[in-house]
Amino acid sequence: MKITDECISCSACIDECPQSAIYNAGMEAEYNGSMISPESEEHPWIVQGLCDDCKTCTEVCPVDCIVTA
Ligand code: SF4
Ligand code: SF4
Repeated sequence: MKITDECISCSACIDECPQSAIYNAGMEAEYNGSMISPESEEHPWIVQGLCDDCKTCTEVCPVDCIVTA
């Protein structure tokens, strides 16, 4: 899944993701022993390798800005 620029940075999705795959804007993520640069400096972003497409985040997003990657 992927977060589009329509995101209002409410952070609701971050708390709900069971895989802890959603990181804050500008935050690096660690995946498989490597650091991954943030995909966005403006809004939360999803580490594709951690996301299992459960879509829990899409249920809590108030602006429906989380879409299939
Ligand atoms: S689809 Fe599921 S695993 Fe992927 S970012 Fe959303 S809540 Fe997390
Ligand atoms: S729930 Fe939606 S609007 Fe809120 S931070 Fe996540 S993607 Fe952005």
